[in-house]
Amino acid sequence: MTQEIIYEGKAKIVYSTDDPNMVSQKFKDDATAFDGKKKGQIASKGVRNAAISTTLFKLLEERGIITQLVERTAEDTLLCKRLTMFPVEVVIRNYAAGSICKRLGFEEGHKMKKPMLEFFLKDDSLGDPLVTDAHIEELELLTRAERDEIEQLALKINETLTKFFAERKVLLIDFKLEFGKDSEGNIVLGDEISPDTCRFWDAETREKLDKDRFRRDLGGVEEAYKEMLNRVES
Ligand code: UDP
Repeated sequence: MTQEIIYEGKAKIVYSTDDPNMVSQKFKDDATAFDGKKKGQIASKGVRNAAISTTLFKLLEERGIITQLVERTAEDTLLCKRLTMFPVEVVIRNYAAGSICKRLGFEEGHKMKKPMLEFFLKDDSLGDPLVTDAHIEELELLTRAERDEIEQLALKINETLTKFFAERKVLLIDFKLEFGKDSEGNIVLGDEISPDTCRFWDAETREKLDKDRFRRDLGGVEEAYKEMLNRVES
């Protein structure tokens, strides 16, 4: 079986497989932040994120969300359906943190009245800017029907994950999703859901249990990923 690298990203390597409709995604320990300006490694991150993402994707599948995941074939590797990805990232915010605090002056931890949906253009050379519905339409990033279906899926995913994490004493502050289309034209959840792509706070102490520990040099980075894996598996 020959596996060629189709794409190497900041946190994952995507390989071809013998089946043209399948890819193999290997999760790396490499970590980047601030548009790649900060680089490092987080020990055991690849294995832990692969495990966390597998559990969460299976949970979402049980709730009727179609995901890319087929099976976890090695500790750090997931066999996935091959998708044509949309050129946007979808962010849901339940509480304010990160870029929205800088952009609009929200205080970190401000609870949103309702989940807030944002789209960002996936374009490193432009710094992945926020895009409005008018931008999405003019740039033809998504059709109106695709945009609306993605919104409904993202809100349903948020409801499922918020409840799952609340049961494990974790606040789901915000997270990023990526969607694509499969060979049959279904809109499918892709990429990963992990402490790299979500903000998680301990519900009681509000301690950060995600990549912000790396971004902001807070220490205890590996421990936070380990703690989140324990809670997800509890
Ligand atoms: N996020 C991500 N990849 C990105 C940008 C953001 O996974 O390229 C996640 C991030 O971890 C957080 C949420 O999306 O959970 C919102 O991120 P934000 O817009 O606040 O940007 P950041 O502060 O991470 O630059």
